[in-house]
Amino acid sequence: MAKLDPPKAVPAVEQEPTEVAGFPLAISGPARVHPKKRELLAALSVVLPDVVKAFPTSAQRELHFITIKLTERTSGGPFFHPTEKAIEIADIEGTLASLREGRPGLFAPLFAAGWLMTKHPDRFHDVERLFEEAKTKKLATATYGRSALEYYAVFSATWFGRSNVHADRSTLRAEDPDGAAFVARSWPRDELPKRPTADQAETRTVQGFSLLVEKTALGHAETDKALAAIDGRLAAIDGVLPAHAMKELRARAVIVLRWTDDPDANMQLYSHEGMIDILDARAYLSSLVSNPWALLHECAHHYMGSVPDLGAKAESAFLAARAAHLYGGTYAATNATEYFAELSEAYFARNEHFPHTRSELADYDPSGYRLMVDAWR
Ligand SMILES: [Zn+2]
Repeated sequence: MAKLDPPKAVPAVEQEPTEVAGFPLAISGPARVHPKKRELLAALSVVLPDVVKAFPTSAQRELHFITIKLTERTSGGPFFHPTEKAIEIADIEGTLASLREGRPGLFAPLFAAGWLMTKHPDRFHDVERLFEEAKTKKLATATYGRSALEYYAVFSATWFGRSNVHADRSTLRAEDPDGAAFVARSWPRDELPKRPTADQAETRTVQGFSLLVEKTALGHAETDKALAAIDGRLAAIDGVLPAHAMKELRARAVIVLRWTDDPDANMQLYSHEGMIDILDARAYLSSLVSNPWALLHECAHHYMGSVPDLGAKAESAFLAARAAHLYGGTYAATNATEYFAELSEAYFARNEHFPHTRSELADYDPSGYRLMVDAWR
């Protein structure tokens, strides 16, 4: 078969670009002939990658599904369109002017809104509920938005240091703890740290558990306090969990205590690769007041992984609870794994969210209660 001829030179018809900095681009109406169109596209090709860099690495690829639309039909904006999953720039001149002023919060909230509506559209009613609560409690809603979506968007952008609001993570946590917790959970974490090697950590034993203290954490008074707290909390857990479960946990889970430059960003405990990972000693200490049973929650994750069929049972109880809208925007509504761990806190101790206790759980979510009885006996 004859080879195809190489293509002839493309005729000199100007094609509209279909992407800008890796984002799908749609230019329509008067925007096509706007004299500043090229200038705006050049500015966007610098600004957009920079804005996206502020978000967690694993979310960045997803953000590139959002379309950038140039229309030129109004002043103000840019806007995010939830149904189209597009950021519309309807005022080319005005957007250029804002970009020249170097306003960091021009695009970041729009990407955050895009993330919510693309990745978690089912969670929008939780955002609405949090927004209504924040308004009722007269929290900082004047600063963080006039609508539920704007509230989430500005809150997220502020969380990642890219909004025009003068606030940081600690401010958000202090002003609106539930909103901050929701926003923190809605974004994926960047890769969790690996288990420290023998020369990176000191090995200890606490309440029969192996515990690795990162060497960078040693020598701080807060580390010693955190170690004492871990000892106390494990003793308390030993007092409530069945002995067979404790034996399993001591064999399966290694506790890791670390020290980071940004305790605010490392408030949560994570269970992964056989570790109960306490990402920051200071953050752990300050979380104890509001969340004293966080270690029990993590123990529940490891225990769940040790019992055959428990995952499937938890999944069906979780789906029933979700169908009945029992857990609203609380952590238990995240997935079957978190549902199991949260219910375990209530069943053995006290959960910070309702149902707080075993008897409240039995009344409110009987199938969750039966899951607990069955799982832990
Ligand atoms: Zn968890």
